[in-house]
Amino acid sequence: MKSQDVRNQFLQFFKSKSHSIVSSAPMVIKDDPTLMFTNAGMNQFKEFFLGNSEPKNSRVTDTQKCLRVSGKHNDLEEVGHDTYHHTMFEMLGNWSFGDYFKKEAIQWAWELLTEVYKINPENLYVSVFEGSKDNDKLELDTEALELWKAIVPEERIIYGNKKDNFWEMGDQGPCGPCSEIHIDIRSDEEKAKTSGRELVNADHPQVVEIWNLVFMQYNRKADGSLEELPAKHIDTGMGFERLCMVLQGKQSNYETDVFTPLIREIEAVTNKEYGTSEKANIAFRVIADHVRAVAFSIADGQLPSNTGAGYVIRRILRRAIRYGFTFLDTKEPFIYKLVATLSRQIGETFPELKSQKQLCENVIREEEISFLRTLDQGLVLLENIIEEAEGKKISGKKAFELYDTYGFPIDLTALILRERGYDLDEKEFEAELKKQKDRSRAATQVTAGDWTELNSVEKDAFIGYDHLESEVKIAKYRKVENKKQGELFQIVLNKTPFYPEGGGQVGDKGYLEAENGNVVYIIDTKRENNQIIHFAKSLPKNPEATFKAVVDASQRARTAANHTATHLLHQALRKILGEHVEQKGSMVHSGYLRFDFSHFSKVSKEQLEEVEAFVNARIRENHELNEQRNIAYQDALDQGAIALFGEKYGDSVRAIRFGESMELCGGIHVKNTADIWHFKIVSEGAVASGIRRIEAITGDAVKDYFAEQDKTMDEVKTLLKNSKDPVKSISNLQEENSELKKQVESLLKDKAKSLKSDLKNEIEEVNGINFLAKLVDIDAGGIKDLAFQLDNEMDNLFLVFGTEQNGKALLSCYISKNLVAEKDLNAGTIIRELGKYIQGGGGGQPFFATAGGKNPAGLNDALQKAKEYIK
Ligand code: ATP
Ligand code: MG
Repeated sequence: MKSQDVRNQFLQFFKSKSHSIVSSAPMVIKDDPTLMFTNAGMNQFKEFFLGNSEPKNSRVTDTQKCLRVSGKHNDLEEVGHDTYHHTMFEMLGNWSFGDYFKKEAIQWAWELLTEVYKINPENLYVSVFEGSKDNDKLELDTEALELWKAIVPEERIIYGNKKDNFWEMGDQGPCGPCSEIHIDIRSDEEKAKTSGRELVNADHPQVVEIWNLVFMQYNRKADGSLEELPAKHIDTGMGFERLCMVLQGKQSNYETDVFTPLIREIEAVTNKEYGTSEKANIAFRVIADHVRAVAFSIADGQLPSNTGAGYVIRRILRRAIRYGFTFLDTKEPFIYKLVATLSRQIGETFPELKSQKQLCENVIREEEISFLRTLDQGLVLLENIIEEAEGKKISGKKAFELYDTYGFPIDLTALILRERGYDLDEKEFEAELKKQKDRSRAATQVTAGDWTELNSVEKDAFIGYDHLESEVKIAKYRKVENKKQGELFQIVLNKTPFYPEGGGQVGDKGYLEAENGNVVYIIDTKRENNQIIHFAKSLPKNPEATFKAVVDASQRARTAANHTATHLLHQALRKILGEHVEQKGSMVHSGYLRFDFSHFSKVSKEQLEEVEAFVNARIRENHELNEQRNIAYQDALDQGAIALFGEKYGDSVRAIRFGESMELCGGIHVKNTADIWHFKIVSEGAVASGIRRIEAITGDAVKDYFAEQDKTMDEVKTLLKNSKDPVKSISNLQEENSELKKQVESLLKDKAKSLKSDLKNEIEEVNGINFLAKLVDIDAGGIKDLAFQLDNEMDNLFLVFGTEQNGKALLSCYISKNLVAEKDLNAGTIIRELGKYIQGGGGGQPFFATAGGKNPAGLNDALQKAKEYIK
């Protein structure tokens, strides 16, 4: 069965059980401070479990792109070494939001596996939660146990502990007991030797978990305690690649058609064969796996970078490069070449990979080039460390420096040292690493208290599209603390006019005013888990009172102008540069706007002018804002709206239209394009390979900009003696300047000529050598020229010149080549000796050498010494 069919059958099966099929959420998470990447299918539904919002369908099914490389679920180190853990994988899932519970979940899972996929039930083991005696005091899951007993013989039911049978997404959030389904795909011979039962959850590559049915019923709070969720839910997750392994009768995920095209392509580009050595095999698997993780996240809009999620992606890619470099001898970029294969293999299911192929290739290639360079440099540095080592032990501090400052991977250091017969002080390295981690943890750690709940949040709590002010009550608040900002309060209101940061637009600022006139300033607004959080430095005296919430209107207006201008800019770029232009990030605040987009060459000055003119024309056409607030996603696309990759859209969306520009957008816009007044681009440049950035300003900022330009112009005119035509005056000055330069040059030449003939007369003959030692007033280049010119006219020269330039002393020594050979003279040795008189050092070639020093007073002595020497 092809992987494509495996996926389809899963979705169709649950569709037949009244589930609606939904699409995967982006892999990179943007609005949840507790999670960087989607690590399970349930992440996108977290708000439904918590009761923060209502799902449209109570039964859904999907395949979700997951990435397990950080936080609670981190499989990175296993990947490649085993055959069934990936960084990026698809998780097939079915969900019940307060609808069916354990009975249906268990029965359907069994039906699908044994009747649809026709897996032999005797190879399946299931587990139930045995309970826990720790603080949580949880009981044995008798309900699940009874349900399983009705379908599976008891010898294949396993009682599992909290680690295996109580699923938690992270340190906080929805959680609950679970039942896992494991499969034994060993040969009959192996099965006869050891019972599969003993190998469940024992890291055996052929006895693996394929499906986890989680019975969501608790929420883990910040203080570690559990609270019952408002309703009970089902959350299941089945590893797609593992299921393919089972159904395709393979022993490893990498032998399924999900991976074989990639493995074959790696063989082709590296000229190595999969299956020849265990080390190379690991490298093959690492690379085949990691290219997926990296390409998917780039397609989701997350580029490799130096911080946060971008840094995690960079490290994954570097791990792949390093395995190739070390075990497959790849010294040139090659991973980017796999993107085409990947896009062919999976582009039907995830079209973003098809449309972003070129971008993925460019970005990966660039990263490869730069990291290979790092590796080369690191190898040289490591060589130095080895040379300087006393004995056979290499300091962990030095290795850490190599790792920390130069990004050279520690396992590569260890490997090379081992091969060369050296020992790395790993303890010292670990200690340094820990010190650094502690430092950065302390800097970013956020401690959050529990919420104090006062009121409930209204259903459509955000009223900021229509209001800048409103009477509100505090729904809940808590204290958070981090090193950077110190103590802050997070406040959730029953409803709010404050726009929470999102879609590139910054959060609103403003204040809450109590009846007695006391105010608390809101310094930022963000959306987290579908709640709007207001940040304040203090709390109102009486949090239970009613407040007037007031948004800073002037800041809001300037931000809105920039946001609308961003849409017009997007439209202009697609018109003028082409439809390949895709938004890759934007930042809209009150001061200016920033827009990143895919485009593979510099935008020319003429094109920029055209873009500016296009946007300004739309501004002057006075387009009214046309807003559709709750329109069906597909409907909006049919009307021509632009949706962004890596953005999570619900079934109903908000569409913003100004004339021909139409985008899905939740941000704040002007009522009419005329409100933008004017649009001006202030910079254009590259941010990454294939990604350009434009920064621009609108409205008052443009006025300020022009006023500033005016002022500078006035100053220029004043400097030009109130010239009426400053351009002409400046070009006259430039002409005059270059004329004067020419004159100076020719005068200097004359001076050198006359100096040369003067000096020629001063040369004295000593023992057949034409010798001169003299102080001259020309620079280093002039002295060199002079010496070479004299050499053209006279033989057997031995010249020493001294000069003082800008308070520093310079000595030069020139010896004709025949003298160097015949008399065994060396200008380099001589100049080093003379250099001592001017407190300096130097060197050069046997026929010409120079020394610089900080003591011009010693020049005469040096020349005197030269005379004595020659005599
Ligand atoms: P394991 O113990 O094998 O690491 P898990 O307990 O971490 O699995 P869950 O968090 O329950 O797994 O995830 C649900 C399903 O997703 C698993 O049953 C498995 O089939 C699949 N899965 C989990 N982690 C990975 C991974 N890193 N790569 C591929 N599939 C995975
Ligand atoms: Mg795991």
